[in-house]
Amino acid sequence: MKVTFLGSGGSVPTKKRNLPSLAVRTDGGLVMFDCGEGTQKQFLIAKLGFNREMRILVSHMHADHILGIPGILHSMSFMGRSRDLEIYGPPGICDFVKCTTETVKFRPMFPIRAVDVHAGTIVKTDSFAIKAAWADHGVPCLAYSLIENDKPGRFHPGKARELRIPKGPLWKTLQMGKTVKVGSRRIEAAKVVDPPRKGLKITYAVDTRPCERVTGLASGSDLLVHDGMFLSDAAERAREYGHSTVVEAATIARKSHSKNLALTHFSAIYEDTKQLLAEAKAVFPRTIVAEDLRSLELP
Ligand SMILES: [Zn+2]
Ligand SMILES: [Zn+2]
Repeated sequence: MKVTFLGSGGSVPTKKRNLPSLAVRTDGGLVMFDCGEGTQKQFLIAKLGFNREMRILVSHMHADHILGIPGILHSMSFMGRSRDLEIYGPPGICDFVKCTTETVKFRPMFPIRAVDVHAGTIVKTDSFAIKAAWADHGVPCLAYSLIENDKPGRFHPGKARELRIPKGPLWKTLQMGKTVKVGSRRIEAAKVVDPPRKGLKITYAVDTRPCERVTGLASGSDLLVHDGMFLSDAAERAREYGHSTVVEAATIARKSHSKNLALTHFSAIYEDTKQLLAEAKAVFPRTIVAEDLRSLELP
């Protein structure tokens, strides 16, 4: 999986930071979390491809998270997208997409399916599932986990040959983890295939106070992308506006046993992120700060 931060600012853009959006490239297509204004340009620079299999998951209906949707729909239409596009979000997203496509004078040439969703399993494909939990932000706001399906273990052709298993359909059956019969012999997949490889898990939780539901959702994530809008000395402000300090975000990463933390949705009051990163690292060393167009390859 490749994760690209398209926008790492919060509430208003700055010279260095676009509004929130995160793109994740998976075997099962592209998944975009939030689509702040200006996302289409970042999308273009990151060369994400306007005609890929794609789903957009919106955390909540605040302007900084959704105003990029009309622009990206327009660009996709202009670039000749033909594939379906799915858009999910809390109640309101359906009306917003409907209003956009009915009042803005462009005609999307591809099917758009917008769905109002709640906590639970939102998407299930052959490659991954997406689950949601309610965050704590004063308005309905969803945090999402993208969970890759486990992958079959590595197949060892040499071992299969040693066991005199003829190449062909039997090899395929073994690769799928099933036992095969060769003459009178029963051969279990484990003899020639390594154990399944665990799928990766990424959790996206922005615009939220520290929240048990989010901690539960994030449990065991390979990467937790969390709201880190303020330094600890602005804890009161974070509480008032329904956001988290970087120390609170780092504490969620620790409590949820996540492997890595990426802080994002930074307040425009911070020109650089050195202090934000230092505070978080003191609690959770495996922390990075999101920068626009920075990509991470998850092994
Ligand atoms: Zn926001
Ligand atoms: Zn918000």
